[in-house]
Amino acid sequence: MSLARGEPKFRIAIVGGGMGGLVLGLCLKKYAPDVHFDIYESAAELTEVGAGIGMSPRIWTIMKELGLDEELLTIAGMQDPQGAGIAFRILKGDEERLIDLVQFKQVHTFHRSILQKLLAKHLDMGDRIHFSKRLASYSEPSPTEPITLTFRDGTTATCDLVIGSDGVRSAVRRTMFNDLANDAQKSGEAEEAARLRTMVDPVFSGQVAYRGLAPASALSEELLQYVQGGPHVLVGKNRDVVIYPVSGGKFVNVLAVKHTPGAGPVYDGPWSEPTTVEVVAKVFEGWESKTLGLIKAVKEPFAWAMHTARQLPTYVKGRAALVGDAAHAMLPHQGAGVGQAFEDGYILAMILAHPSVAPANLPAALAVYDDVRRPFSQGVQQGSERNGMNYQLRRTGWENVSEEDSRAGRYPQELLGVLEEELTKQMGWAYEASILDERARVEERLVGLSA
Ligand SMILES: Cc1cc2nc3c(=O)[nH]c(=O)nc-3n(C[C@H](O)[C@H](O)[C@H](O)COP(=O)(O)OP(=O)(O)OC[C@H]3O[C@@H](n4cnc5c(N)ncnc54)[C@H](O)[C@@H]3O)c2cc1C
Repeated sequence: MSLARGEPKFRIAIVGGGMGGLVLGLCLKKYAPDVHFDIYESAAELTEVGAGIGMSPRIWTIMKELGLDEELLTIAGMQDPQGAGIAFRILKGDEERLIDLVQFKQVHTFHRSILQKLLAKHLDMGDRIHFSKRLASYSEPSPTEPITLTFRDGTTATCDLVIGSDGVRSAVRRTMFNDLANDAQKSGEAEEAARLRTMVDPVFSGQVAYRGLAPASALSEELLQYVQGGPHVLVGKNRDVVIYPVSGGKFVNVLAVKHTPGAGPVYDGPWSEPTTVEVVAKVFEGWESKTLGLIKAVKEPFAWAMHTARQLPTYVKGRAALVGDAAHAMLPHQGAGVGQAFEDGYILAMILAHPSVAPANLPAALAVYDDVRRPFSQGVQQGSERNGMNYQLRRTGWENVSEEDSRAGRYPQELLGVLEEELTKQMGWAYEASILDERARVEERLVGLSA
């Protein structure tokens, strides 16, 4: 991997052109102009299932760093001269009347496809984004030879560094953890090999999410007023609903989740499929009428059997790294999956851009990425699970409260106070810490990296 004059510092293959892959590409373009990268995407074109995304201040910082904040607000039809976002409220929503719990500040909400189009426009990849390229596996024969990517269509490509941003069912994660397991097996560690193989497949969470957009034009005056009150999270026994306006209020994003107690780790059936509002309304029967009204106004809802990645013991091996859902697919109960993918891309690009990082020390540089990003993102992953327990009233104290009891208000009222405290504590990370602190820590670590 010696460099000739004018050659890029190294060649990166980004596998997967979802939110994480696009932001990583944008960060590399801005911060690491001396590296070359290609994106390999399995779909025939960039598509995002129409739904919303909420951004907390940590992610908004990245949008600002990339210079995309104002344009995003403009095309989303939002005005936010202070850049402060809007508040969102958490309420108990499975009774006849809503019960206010807590309020959070500073969230920006967007239509996913608007955000994706903006990222793709600024990335302007031309012929360096390769569509209909589904990775089957990769191989890294030695520390100095190129990595070979093998695609399902039988073609191959080479690179110096492969980054898996290929989502919850990542092929990069599959290759990485099968290789790690094979290494453990060869060293006589059969138990460790078996443990590493369990990291390959995602796990069913027992939760199905119904999501889609309701056009504001179809809503009654009462529902419009309700939505204009800002984003709402409605909590209830074994169920929760998140609603917020997108596209300047033209649509309302509705994400309604049902938890099935005792569900196993394997889901039989399609992971995502179209459903009907009748099916969803039945699941939320007896909920407060405005929330139910919004559920019924959704056009073309989709059902998602939600899966998560296991807590991986590493995000890197040799010259391969995982970002986004490939590394830490999580439940949506902090609205944090996209943000964590953005943070991975931002920090990884900072590392690869650093002058002390060269082809010979890529594994050491990736180890810094793993050290910094894994504990944080896995903390968020676990927090999303815990917040789901808050949202679905499955925390300590609520065990013996049935769905009927919760709907009828038959539970110790002091549980609501405890819930308020837990919700406030849980979401603190998204509002207090800054991604720029992480960047500073990474830069300190890289100064001492030997070539
Ligand atoms: C129901 C639901 C609701 C959610 N709500 C929110 C929310 O409100 N806020 C939030 O922040 N997050 C939410 N998330 C999570 C969020 O969608 C993910 O965290 C985010 O999309 C992860 O981005 P990613 O780029 O890592 O993966 P993805 O967006 O999954 O992108 C992966 C890309 O890789 C491609 N690909 C897959 N396999 C291959 C392969 N073998 N070769 C090449 N390409 C491949 C795919 O086509 C895709 O383009 C939600 C998730 C679900 C399921």
